[in-house]
Amino acid sequence: MIEFNRKPYTGNEDQYILEALQSPKMSGDGTFTKHCHQWFQQQLGCAKALLTPSCTHSLEMAALLINVQPGDEIIMPSYTFVSTANAFVLRGAKIVFVDVRPDTMNIDEQRIEAAITERTKAIVPVHYAGVGCEMDTIMELAEKHDLFVIEDAAQGMMSTYKGKPLGTLGHIGCFSFHDTKNYTSGGEGGLLIVNDENLVERAEILREKGTNRSKFLRGAIDKYTWVDVGSSFLPGELQAAYLWGQLQQADTINKQRRQSWQHYYDRLQDLQQQGRVELPQVPDNCVHNAHIFYLKAADIDERSALIEHLKARDIATAFHYIPLHSAPSAHTHARFHGDDRFTTQESERLIRLPMWYGLSHDQREHIINAIYEFYA
Ligand SMILES: *Cc1c(COP(=O)(O)O)cnc(C)c1O
Repeated sequence: MIEFNRKPYTGNEDQYILEALQSPKMSGDGTFTKHCHQWFQQQLGCAKALLTPSCTHSLEMAALLINVQPGDEIIMPSYTFVSTANAFVLRGAKIVFVDVRPDTMNIDEQRIEAAITERTKAIVPVHYAGVGCEMDTIMELAEKHDLFVIEDAAQGMMSTYKGKPLGTLGHIGCFSFHDTKNYTSGGEGGLLIVNDENLVERAEILREKGTNRSKFLRGAIDKYTWVDVGSSFLPGELQAAYLWGQLQQADTINKQRRQSWQHYYDRLQDLQQQGRVELPQVPDNCVHNAHIFYLKAADIDERSALIEHLKARDIATAFHYIPLHSAPSAHTHARFHGDDRFTTQESERLIRLPMWYGLSHDQREHIINAIYEFYA
């Protein structure tokens, strides 16, 4: 069986996990967390990088950080993971969905402005498959209408838009280190990056249960106290230790994934030329991290048949998000602004192929040949 996904594991993690196990303490913000923070601050060039227990927590922190209030509206695509919406719904916000572009499956930046109202507080672009949204347009809109931009860069580590890392273009960026992402902190994990200097101090407070403990640990104050709302948004050291092992291999993992992606892309070109499938499109101003390789079948029936065909040949594939506006909770918490021209139709055609660190050339050839066999 060729799995759809395997968690990234390089072997380099073991030594750090052992070190964490043998150290006298394993609570948050220890040595490995600090190493990771430094690595991200350097790699991304952001004002502040803070590990969190998941991208879901990062998004929840972001909603607190920009002070989302009941009745505020948050604009995002419907083609995304439930946490993108729920983080804001938890604060009483209404979600306003905007259609995606069929080429990237990212929010259609040309349709955002029409969805902005007096109550709009933020735009949440989701960089699907690690391919950047059209951030210049989105940031211009945000400036014009005085909105925050929170990037859901869960899938976007090591990707860039116009040479800048995803997650660093908006006010706040949220990343995931779940098993299924390019890098993991041992199953679950996340990162919040703050690009707006004005939000840095409060981000540390929210993450430390609403106290100024971070300031205290730096020696800036002589006792710490309760100063704001907050929660426990920091992971333990085991997670940071696993992640630290992966970060040493960040380029190796990225390079190998990109090779796999390119192999699929080159070999499936013929099928695209024959008009049988559509392959992903990456805008010229984006460098992606090969988080997902997908293709689009003619329609949902053809996709189901293809999934079955591959399953019979021991190849696991997966479709992806069922648009959130069609989910039961959407009636209470969300609305779709404008027409759903592409969100539903394109999501029903999309199938993701196995993509993980360690996937071999032969395995990919087997998958590609099975796809050709299906279309023969
Ligand atoms: C994976 C993912 C999340 C959630 O990440 P967790 O770390 O599992 O909480 C959120 N948004 C998007 C777009 C994702 O792909």
